[in-house]
Amino acid sequence: MIVTFPHMGNVYIGGKALMDDLGVDVVVPPLSTDYALEIGTTQSPEFICSPLKINIGNYVQSIQKGADTVLITGSCGPCRFGYYGVMEKEILMDMGYDVDFIIFEAPDGDIGELIRRMQKATNTRNIAKMAKSIWVAQGIIKEADRIERRMLHLEAVEEDKGTIKKIRKQFKNQARLAKGSKGMRELLRDINSKLDKVLIDNEQKPLKIGLIGEIYTLIEPYINLHIEEKLAALGVEVDRSLCVGEWVTEHLVYRPMGLTRDKKIRKAAQPYLDRCIGGHAWETIGYAAHYSQSGYDGIIQLLPFGCMPEIVAESILPTIQKDYKVPIMTLVLDELTGEAGYMTRLEAFVDLIQRKKERRERHEA
Ligand code: SF4
Repeated sequence: MIVTFPHMGNVYIGGKALMDDLGVDVVVPPLSTDYALEIGTTQSPEFICSPLKINIGNYVQSIQKGADTVLITGSCGPCRFGYYGVMEKEILMDMGYDVDFIIFEAPDGDIGELIRRMQKATNTRNIAKMAKSIWVAQGIIKEADRIERRMLHLEAVEEDKGTIKKIRKQFKNQARLAKGSKGMRELLRDINSKLDKVLIDNEQKPLKIGLIGEIYTLIEPYINLHIEEKLAALGVEVDRSLCVGEWVTEHLVYRPMGLTRDKKIRKAAQPYLDRCIGGHAWETIGYAAHYSQSGYDGIIQLLPFGCMPEIVAESILPTIQKDYKVPIMTLVLDELTGEAGYMTRLEAFVDLIQRKKERRERHEA
């Protein structure tokens, strides 16, 4: 068995460490590119959401390198993600690739079946060993997320523009080569010590923008056209509402047990949306309210074209904008999104919130 999995933010960092530690052969697909999207776009239904198209591209590139088993997490509520695994297997079959799929979910709440699937994927019946390795891997993903958040903060105020961009590139390239959790932890330590040495300009008071929306579009820089780097280049400090480490813990540990760690955000969403309507629409609304209450200068919602839960969330956002007077912009992304038009919208939004902030400061003075 040679496993692979689709790219989703820093999942590959923890996933590779986990498989290396357990002695399972793994192929990490190349980071998502136009080529991966092109493969997926030509083989998938036209109106399916773009995360599935890129997944297909990731799988094909891994299969060509020898992978024969795909690992993917299961449903996150009533949206298309619930049938991603089944549909992706069919698409690969039609392309002539007969690969096995292991879907991490507890069908009808059957935790025993989820554990059996995990045992199969990790090639061990030793539950304690498996649980320990998963725990270590999720810790690595969380640390990688923490480093990313740190980079987002530093990038807006770094003295030497471009320093963080270089460190980020180095981090991504080396993470694909690091061996096991030991190698990965060493890399994380090394990146942290590089970040400690970044010089910052204390005079700068960057604008603050919260990013909300569909999780894949939020955490995959290729699909969101590197929005965080673009905003940092415009002098903006970005906070991303969802991170993959929290998502892994929530979906593989808490939700199968009927629990959640999102209580605070659900409470913030309560006046506008009080139930799960699929995807992460609930979190989108909760974080929009949370950022508005926390003094952010602006909020940007990201979603792939045709994402129903986020389209519903988009229709609620004007009410939050009216209540808190915080500008909110929605960006819809797909394979046809042009970089120039996208950049123009970002620049115009940053310009708008900058002028709004200056007006407010003049008024307060
Ligand atoms: S949340 Fe949206 S983009 Fe993601 S699978 Fe569901 S419908 Fe598709």
